[in-house]
Amino acid sequence: MKNRRDFLKTAGLMSSSVIIPSVLGSCINTEESSSKNSGNSKVMQLSYKPYELELTHVFTLAGSSRRTTPVMLTQIHFDGLVGYGEASMPPYLGESHLTVEAFLKKVDLSQFNDPFQLEDIIEYIDGIAPGNYAAKAAVDIALHDLVGKLLNQPWYKIWGLNPDKVPDTSFTIGIDTPDVVKMKTREAAPYNILKIKLGHDTDREMVKAIRGITDKPLCVDVNQGWKDKEKALDMIYWLEEQGVVFVEQPMPVDAVDDMAWLTANCPLPTIADEALQGPADIKKLYGVYDGINIKLMKCGGMRAAHKMANSAIGMGMEVMLGCMTETSCAVTAMAHMGHLARWADLDGNLLINNDVFDGVKVIDGKVILPDKPGIGVVPV
Ligand code: MG
Repeated sequence: MKNRRDFLKTAGLMSSSVIIPSVLGSCINTEESSSKNSGNSKVMQLSYKPYELELTHVFTLAGSSRRTTPVMLTQIHFDGLVGYGEASMPPYLGESHLTVEAFLKKVDLSQFNDPFQLEDIIEYIDGIAPGNYAAKAAVDIALHDLVGKLLNQPWYKIWGLNPDKVPDTSFTIGIDTPDVVKMKTREAAPYNILKIKLGHDTDREMVKAIRGITDKPLCVDVNQGWKDKEKALDMIYWLEEQGVVFVEQPMPVDAVDDMAWLTANCPLPTIADEALQGPADIKKLYGVYDGINIKLMKCGGMRAAHKMANSAIGMGMEVMLGCMTETSCAVTAMAHMGHLARWADLDGNLLINNDVFDGVKVIDGKVILPDKPGIGVVPV
């Protein structure tokens, strides 16, 4: 397998001047004018740098396995402050270092002289090209971090949310052999709720292996892995007896009628993940799922995520906050709206061994938000 440096060279994304010990120390400027606007400029300058996250364990879903995840780290400089952001690109979502770089090159923030005009700026970012949600999130998060720093307040306060009401985060245990699953369950001792990836022939074996170690509440993510609604219903009744509290994306995204039937008949809440992208999708998921799993990399950032959480609450749907494999930058950004959610699955930064930010903490399973301005992360 190529190492990170070889990969980035091959991808044409890294010049010798970019490879530096401090990952965040130098980003690629997207704007020609950046050199003359350095320092305390009142012009927003976006810069970015590719990075590769290393997973502590091989991560297996119902369709793929991987050991690394590419991310793009972004910065927006303005008036002597720096806002940090990030795009995470798990391969199944179709974005990559190359696509995110191509998108970010088109972003010209110099046309906006007021970072507080978030609605206008994000509408412009969204209009640059369809899709590219992780790339859009990378700009959106950096912009929110900057605005919070300009206001000198953390985002949970700006949104009027209580940091003590963020739900305990689940910790994800991937599909594996019973022995490895037991080992991972023991490693997950600090967490109060565990998330299991199901969708293989070994589903009951996986649950029994975990139940042999702990009686903590479990949630399951099937990643569209169950194809038959009757079998899915039987399985969910069995999972309820095993102390499972909800089931995420049990059936394929296009199995809408089967999914609505399952939600109407099964004893546990069903949560849409792959079936959900942005704010416009919530209406069509009403009645098909009981709730939604919001992720910054799916919806394009904090602004869309906050709108989605409030829309879902208004429709009486459950809200769950999720993440991809990400640094503490994006995970912390999402954690600020934790008060709006019933469940949090904010463990993406806990599954990697080369984080470049210090931010949200998990202590005894509880999510502890930083109270610094913006999203409150500090480069390490
Ligand atoms: Mg999921």
